[in-house]
Amino acid sequence: MCLMCIEVAQNRMKISEAKQALKELIMTAERPEDLAHYQELAKMSDEGLKKSAEKYSPKNIKKTNLS
Ligand SMILES: [Zn+2]
Repeated sequence: MCLMCIEVAQNRMKISEAKQALKELIMTAERPEDLAHYQELAKMSDEGLKKSAEKYSPKNIKKTNLS
């Protein structure tokens, strides 16, 4: 989970913008787990990226915690 996933999940960032941001994030990632996460997202289709990001939206996280 990262800030970018949350931005996409809340529709504050477009998928096309996220893909652009990913290139930068991959080059500047400091932790190996962050790099792995960004690389995984970069391989996804636009639809896949959006679905993946939605898992991290605060709405869904809250729902998971309540159930
Ligand atoms: Zn993320």
